[in-house]
Amino acid sequence: MTTFLEEGLSWQGPVVWWNPVDGARHAFAPDTKPRPEQERVTLCGQAVVLIDPSELDWLMPTCDTCMDRAKQWAQQRQDSIEERRRDQRRRQGWF
Ligand SMILES: [Zn+2]
Repeated sequence: MTTFLEEGLSWQGPVVWWNPVDGARHAFAPDTKPRPEQERVTLCGQAVVLIDPSELDWLMPTCDTCMDRAKQWAQQRQDSIEERRRDQRRRQGWF
């Protein structure tokens, strides 16, 4: 029962998508999966048109700003998962 609950809370899809564009790998909001030709805004705030990345494109350096924001998002999500777990336990009278 506990295991079922925790799995349900911890899997919420990717925190961000990564896509190489304009000479670096940038991160994108998780709501829509990146596709070539899509107009998107990177996590670091640049409006870009996505490309169809080749294997070589994936070797581009990771954008530092996007990486920082992606880490922040991951941390915030982790915090909210912990918070919901605590709520659940409280409601079930575990402590
Ligand atoms: Zn970026």
